[in-house]
Amino acid sequence: MTTNHELFQRARQLMPGGVNSPVRAFKSVGGEPFFTERADGAYLWDVEGDRYIDYVGSWGPMIVGHNHPAVRESVERAIRNGLSFGTPCPAEVTMAETITRLVPSMEMVRMVNSGTEATMSAIRLARGATGRSKIVKFEGCYHGHGDSFLVKAGSGALTFGVPTSPGVPKANADLTLTLPYNDLDAARALFAEQGHEIAGLIIEPVAGNMNCIAPLDGYLQGLRELCTQSGALLIFDEVMTGFRVALGGAQAHYGVAPDLTTFGKIIGGGMPVGAYGGKRELMEQIAPAGPIYQAGTLSGNPVAMAAGLAMLELVQAPGFHDRLAARTRLLTDGFQSVADGEGVAFSTNRVGGMFGLFFTAEKVTTYAQATAADSALFNRFFHGMLKRGVYLAPSAFEAGFMSSAHSDQDIADTLEAARGALREAKG
Ligand code: PLP
Repeated sequence: MTTNHELFQRARQLMPGGVNSPVRAFKSVGGEPFFTERADGAYLWDVEGDRYIDYVGSWGPMIVGHNHPAVRESVERAIRNGLSFGTPCPAEVTMAETITRLVPSMEMVRMVNSGTEATMSAIRLARGATGRSKIVKFEGCYHGHGDSFLVKAGSGALTFGVPTSPGVPKANADLTLTLPYNDLDAARALFAEQGHEIAGLIIEPVAGNMNCIAPLDGYLQGLRELCTQSGALLIFDEVMTGFRVALGGAQAHYGVAPDLTTFGKIIGGGMPVGAYGGKRELMEQIAPAGPIYQAGTLSGNPVAMAAGLAMLELVQAPGFHDRLAARTRLLTDGFQSVADGEGVAFSTNRVGGMFGLFFTAEKVTTYAQATAADSALFNRFFHGMLKRGVYLAPSAFEAGFMSSAHSDQDIADTLEAARGALREAKG
């Protein structure tokens, strides 16, 4: 039998860090990743035959559980007709009709192949449409690995950004301004100073890449007003929240319409898909309708569209998101009472089908609070859970994802594991 360790040894010889995406390598929590052989419903099985209740869900797409028959069969039907055509295909039209119906702020849409492509394209459009160069992002928000996004705040809120990765030109980072999430006064100050130079403000409307942090009441509305007043475009990066926190995404949940939206994850049903879209007069500036260039050999791929359409069909079931939110609540309330019972300082956040677990007694609403929580305790807890057959995101700074395949028994088993893992982790 091949073991996880053997595979990781081989992988490390040939792939940077042994993986094709950094967080999978367990660097943040320590130890070595397991290699998944198959997945079904709420579970992953590794190559050694161990089963895990999975709260990562392929980092978000698997909202109906892994290997859902309706998604799989839709893909199987599509495959019989060929894998890629390089011409328009009918499923792309159905996809555009579905997205624009479910998300009314999106009057037109362009399909791409990842969340990163969607966000990169959205800011190009914002720059092209406004004739301005600066963009605003938030510390702790992640928008994929485009140069403009791998930037953190400089020494003061109004200074130029600093690259967070070698290879990102300083000239590029200079154009990215970074603000603290959930601080409307900081945003007001920035816009008062530089609003006329800002092409767009991009935000995860519920932050899911600094653990899970919801926007404070009125925060997204406040950002909407600042953008409208200054002529900057408001871009909601709903790669994670789209079709998850509500059928119409965070914009439906909070009642704030952005100018542009980006999607990924769920919209591809597990295939590599992203999308961006928004107001018609903006989207008509994209090539070939307009001059702003963006293209993709495999964009709108028929197999990927088949997976995504089947997934979007499933999440439209009446009451789907209410049930998902109730299940998430059962889990986070359960974690809280286990932690309280063990006398561990702990708090949770949740919006719809996403959640965050924090080893701090405070209610977490800022990046500073999220980073101040006890991540060493989280890392021990993570490994205790893994040992007990529960897979949480392998980092204290990632959101957790619920799926409709998680049963009451899975949640009860998770909480039982949590009791043991916490007892062990707190030392
Ligand atoms: N935007 C958000 C909010 C994300 O969470 C991610 C990925 O996790 C991305 C963009 C990038 O998407 P992808 O990994 O598909 O490029």
